[in-house]
Amino acid sequence: MTSNISQAYPYSSETEVERADAVAATVAAHAGLDVTIAGESSSLDPGERWWTYHHGGCGGTLHVAGYARDQHAVYVVCDRCGKTALR
Ligand SMILES: [Zn+2]
Repeated sequence: MTSNISQAYPYSSETEVERADAVAATVAAHAGLDVTIAGESSSLDPGERWWTYHHGGCGGTLHVAGYARDQHAVYVVCDRCGKTALR
């Protein structure tokens, strides 16, 4: 499988409830991830739907967890491997 690490494409979308549940479950499954997210991102504004992205590296789904602190980007976390990235 080829992957393009510099350009993400919208994969799907989810509701705020689905997003929050996915991020909470991911944080629960990866020790210290909550600290990483809190340190590297800021809180989201309320929203009804969020994009999710396919993580080509592991086949998981990247869920929006916050905003990047220094860039105009969203901060995402993978529900399978726990990696974080900007999109
Ligand atoms: Zn992953």
